[in-house]
Amino acid sequence: MWKRAWVFLVVGVVASLTALGQQPLEYYLTGNLKEVPGTVATDKGEQRTSFSGAIGFRVTVGPKGELIWSLIRLNLVAKGVPTEKGDSGTIGLVLADYDHKATYDPRTGRLTAEFRATLHYELIDRVKGYRELGVKGEQDLFAPYTEEMVGKLSGKLPESLQAAEKGSALLSGDVRLDLSSPVLGAVRSIDLAVSPVLVWVFRFAETLRIQPVFIGTGPTDPARTGTAWATLIARSHEIWNKCGTVRCLKLVVNQPIYLNKPAYRVLDTDAEITALRAEVDVANAVEVFVVERWATALACSTGGGACWSSGTASAKIVTSDQQLAVPCPCPAACTGYCPCGPCACGALNLYHLAHELVHALNLAHPPGPSGSLAASTVGSNMEPSGFCCDNPGIQSAKNCRNASNPLLYWEIWSTRACGGRPDIAD
Ligand SMILES: [Zn+2]
Repeated sequence: MWKRAWVFLVVGVVASLTALGQQPLEYYLTGNLKEVPGTVATDKGEQRTSFSGAIGFRVTVGPKGELIWSLIRLNLVAKGVPTEKGDSGTIGLVLADYDHKATYDPRTGRLTAEFRATLHYELIDRVKGYRELGVKGEQDLFAPYTEEMVGKLSGKLPESLQAAEKGSALLSGDVRLDLSSPVLGAVRSIDLAVSPVLVWVFRFAETLRIQPVFIGTGPTDPARTGTAWATLIARSHEIWNKCGTVRCLKLVVNQPIYLNKPAYRVLDTDAEITALRAEVDVANAVEVFVVERWATALACSTGGGACWSSGTASAKIVTSDQQLAVPCPCPAACTGYCPCGPCACGALNLYHLAHELVHALNLAHPPGPSGSLAASTVGSNMEPSGFCCDNPGIQSAKNCRNASNPLLYWEIWSTRACGGRPDIAD
């Protein structure tokens, strides 16, 4: 009941602002897509799969009361399809820009939008590897090659839709995407029919799902890994809750998956890390693998944790419990990798996982942009660190605005979850 009262209160406030001619008069029409059947045209013919994701519009009331529509989200994730070079692996798409003009005709209810989208699928990484970014300090960032598609949404909403109207509206339409800038070129076009129930909101919230993976037989295994998890994820929530006043972004954490393969407790080689990442694939989440430790040389060069396929639906993070137990003194091999201050040791890397999760949300080290990754703020959590020094526990408004991943989906706005504010602006 209090939620309904709150909605009426907000409607009242917005109506008052309208009467006074004050801004902002922005509304959002948002909906999630669940298992929508689609056709993917590949270099091996047409394949069927299903897409989940999120779609959203911003509707601004202009000075004469006219409605100005923008498509601000189209996140799509699908299971892999066969191609000439093998299974595509998870397919993910996000809009290439925040804002794409949309047109709504109140007489007919017709809604159209043309847009550019960034396409990625795991096979691109397997065939092309990762971009050389030349990052300073830790090499913790494996940015993928991505492709671009041009898209068109043609749909229908109820006629005479008003922005201030609370409640929901059914959108029925078609989305068509054609490859315009290939890297691998195995996926050529995508067609899907969408019919989401869109909900009017004044502020929106988006959620990223996280899947922890520990090594051991289960939660009662005294030797299981993941002892650093509670601290690392708490500091990650802290960093993302600071986005609240700019953009409500939340992390939702699944129950851990336990991998009973003791050989992964200590990671000695890049090949072993690659094999570990292939062990678990949860379609709607960013996997975070937590081992006991990495071999010292690897821990020094990478910071003991890294993010692969950053910014995509295939993003995966590998890290270790040793983030909170860096050997003392700091290993000699690490002393060249402390760009953030003097090399230290002990329970040190509190904000390390928060930093890797922002890589999963497509942000580069500052200032960026870098490769396919977006710009971030100097002095923020996105500063690279090393195994013997931590990333700053500082969030910026720019980091919050620039975050993206096809796995983000809408939630009803919650004041409790989104009360924080960034430490710095841009
Ligand atoms: Zn980094």
